[in-house]
Amino acid sequence: MPTGPEPGPAPLANPPADAANAPARAGPAPALLVSACLLGVRCNHRGEASPSEAVAALGERYRLIPVCPETLGGLPTPRPAAELRGGAVCTAAGEDVTAAFARGSEAAVALAKAVGATEAVLKARSPSCGAHAVYDGTFSRALVEGRGITAAALAEAGLTLRDEEDVARGSGR
Ligand code: SF4
Repeated sequence: MPTGPEPGPAPLANPPADAANAPARAGPAPALLVSACLLGVRCNHRGEASPSEAVAALGERYRLIPVCPETLGGLPTPRPAAELRGGAVCTAAGEDVTAAFARGSEAAVALAKAVGATEAVLKARSPSCGAHAVYDGTFSRALVEGRGITAAALAEAGLTLRDEEDVARGSGR
């Protein structure tokens, strides 16, 4: 039976050469609020996602914080499509869902403040998340300039907004 000394711990591996030269990060990556459907969450009104590789790649530079204002506002998934018209949000059948959209926007702003986010990347043309344009309320796919309910609230709170199309073309708009 061997009686020699117990083997010591294995020597630590040398760090990769480039790790020694990598710039030290001053702190945690900045928070970036992102429409959850862009990160692959199946939360849109059809129960589907709208994943964007360009948006997911921002995870290399940011701490991605997914948020779906419509589900945060209490709406189910799937749910009837809704569009903005005259400051209200209604389904094609005429159900007014403005209150749920407003609750979701308040929750999204609270989340942005809680994580210290100053930027958001939001799903284009959504009545919640649209950053530059939204459908016009006629359910005919016609667009008008303007913001969704949550996008407007986040902009009001001081966040800089982009949509997935801005990110894909490398635009800071
Ligand atoms: Fe995506 Fe925003 Fe619609 Fe949620 S509310 S499904 S995050 S576009």
